[in-house]
Amino acid sequence: MILKNKNALHFFAFSTLEAFDEISHGVFTRTNGFSKGEYKSLNTGLSVGDHPSMVERNRQVIARCMDTQQLVFLKQIHKTGILILKKSDDNRSPKTHPSPFSGDAMVTDIPGKTIAVQLADCQGVLMYDPVKKVAANVHSGWRGSIANILGKCVASMTTEFGCRPEDIIAGISPSLGPCCSEFIHFRQEIPEAYWRYKNRSDHFNFWRISRRQLLNAGLLTQHIELPDICTKCNSHLFFSYRKKNQTGRFVSVIGLK
Ligand SMILES: [Zn+2]
Repeated sequence: MILKNKNALHFFAFSTLEAFDEISHGVFTRTNGFSKGEYKSLNTGLSVGDHPSMVERNRQVIARCMDTQQLVFLKQIHKTGILILKKSDDNRSPKTHPSPFSGDAMVTDIPGKTIAVQLADCQGVLMYDPVKKVAANVHSGWRGSIANILGKCVASMTTEFGCRPEDIIAGISPSLGPCCSEFIHFRQEIPEAYWRYKNRSDHFNFWRISRRQLLNAGLLTQHIELPDICTKCNSHLFFSYRKKNQTGRFVSVIGLK
C-alpha cells in the first residue's frame, strides 16, 4: 500500500489497483476530519454517537477528495446482503432500494458512483475487474468472514456482470491482525472448520481466512494485496473497536470515474 495525501486528507492506495486510471480508491486514515473526542476526527459512522453534522462534513470532504458527487453508504449489519448498482438498471425505472440499503457489500459498474464501507477493525475488501469494469466493496468482520461474504460477492460479480474471477484484483484493508484478534468464546462463535486459522492460544488469523476465500473463489494469488497492518496496533491512524468500544468508523472507497 502507498500512503497518499490530497486536500489535506491521508489515505492508503493499493499498488495493484493504482495501475487503473479509470478508478479512484482509497482507505482513509482517521486523521484531519472534523469530529471531536473519541470520534477524532475523520469519522464516517452515523450511528456511533457522533454529531450527524460532523459526519456529514467528513463524508463531504472524502467525496471531494475522490472527485465524486455520489458517495454511497450502506447500513452495515454484519450479514451477507449485497447491493447491486447496475448501469443497465439506471435507464429503467429506478429500483426502489430503502436508503441506506441494509447489507454489507456493494457492486457497481456505474461511472461516478463511489461505494463506501465503514470500518473499525473489520476488513474492507476492495475489488475491481478491469475487463468488465466492475468495482466492489465488501465489509467483512468475523461474522461476514465465517459466512464467506467475500465468496458471495465474487459470485455476484460473476452472475450479475459476467466477470471472470481470474481477472479480479482485490485489496484487503488494514484491519484486526492475528496479533490482536483474540476470541475467548471461539468454541461458541467460530465454526470448527476455521479453527486451523487459530494459533496455540485463541487468536485467529482472519487475513489468511480472507485470502483463502478469495483464492477459493477463483482469484489469482498475485491479484490479492494484503498489507498486514493491524488497526488495533495502529489506533492513532485507524479507528479500532477492540481498542475502544466507543469510537468512530474509518472508510474504504472505490468507484469508476
Ligand atoms: Zn494488532
